[in-house]
Amino acid sequence: MSTTKTINLKNRPKGKPEVSDFDFTTSDILELQQGEVLLRTKYVSVDPYLRGRMSDAPSYISPFELNKPVESNCIAEVVASKSDRIHTGDHVSGMLQWKETQLIKADGLRTIDPDKAPLSAYLGILGMTGLTAYFGLTEMGKPKKGETLVVSGAAGAVGSIVGQIGKILGLHVVGIAGTDEKVGMLKFEFGFDEGINYNTAENMTKAIAKACPNGVDVYFDNVGGEISDAVLLNLNKFSRTVNCGAISVYNNTEAPKSMSVRPFLIKKSSSMQGFVISDFVEKHPQGIAKLSEWLMEGKLHYTETIRDGFENIPQAFLDLFDGKNKGKMIVKL
Ligand code: NDP
Repeated sequence: MSTTKTINLKNRPKGKPEVSDFDFTTSDILELQQGEVLLRTKYVSVDPYLRGRMSDAPSYISPFELNKPVESNCIAEVVASKSDRIHTGDHVSGMLQWKETQLIKADGLRTIDPDKAPLSAYLGILGMTGLTAYFGLTEMGKPKKGETLVVSGAAGAVGSIVGQIGKILGLHVVGIAGTDEKVGMLKFEFGFDEGINYNTAENMTKAIAKACPNGVDVYFDNVGGEISDAVLLNLNKFSRTVNCGAISVYNNTEAPKSMSVRPFLIKKSSSMQGFVISDFVEKHPQGIAKLSEWLMEGKLHYTETIRDGFENIPQAFLDLFDGKNKGKMIVKL
């Protein structure tokens, strides 16, 4: 029987995860059964939401089990198949375990076309993060031409696409990110109108007011915490806040010290709503079609941070919390 390299969750992290919370091991590859495919992993997506699955708190998705493989969205090549739908040589995307090679039922896999876009794009712009940006902004943010959109986590996988869609829809777009280099990328590569470095801005509330002379109509929140408090103080009447993510508090061990939002929402008749991308699962094909169209037309651009090597998956995941990525963080095997 052959074996494959595997990464298991060893400990439930306390605070910020560490490489020692993961266990590098080997596991057996069993015999291929009817309806299954044998996959060789090519690209692994690492995502902030995986942090939530490492804790055992109840959530919209089940926690990882200790001493079992971690899983995330991946792209793989089919090396053997006993499926009628998916064939040897095909490329697929799906929720896969952190293994170099694995057997899996073909049912939950989507075949992807490497001639239409680079394989890694199916984990970002044409995958979960692109769809999150698209539906989060268009369906939850309800943007109107001429309004002002603020995006936090703006230089990341979701944020960089949100801001560009905002520009396509005719909004004044302001991005918040953690370095001057990222702010430059937002303005000069992705066409944002303004960018704010939250690490160097002396007063975030004033910096946002300056970048948004007409106030904030839509806030697409990827980070939560104090950055979001500062945006909240600039919200307009009837504004909408889209709660997409809150990475600044994912590793907190104590309750965050954020402001109470209720008085602000009342004063501004403002709404705030969370969502998860699976809420829009029936519309995903429509979202992919629109993102592909904008990509082909050159209206949408994307960037990726690609790390090499199976053994670097945990570190790539940890680096999300230190802002070491621009655009989608991916590991190539
Ligand atoms: P990103 O590519 O944006 O990577 C994470 C980024 O977060 C880092 O690059 C860093 O950028 C920023 N960051 C890290 N720590 C902090 C902090 N303490 N304060 C402020 N910013 C911080 O990840 P994604 O685009 O994949 O995800 C963005 C957000 O969207 C996450 O919160 C994620 O959980 C959420 N999400 C939600 C989904 C949903 O269905 N609701 C689906 C997908 C993602 P910087 O250098 O600017 O600090």
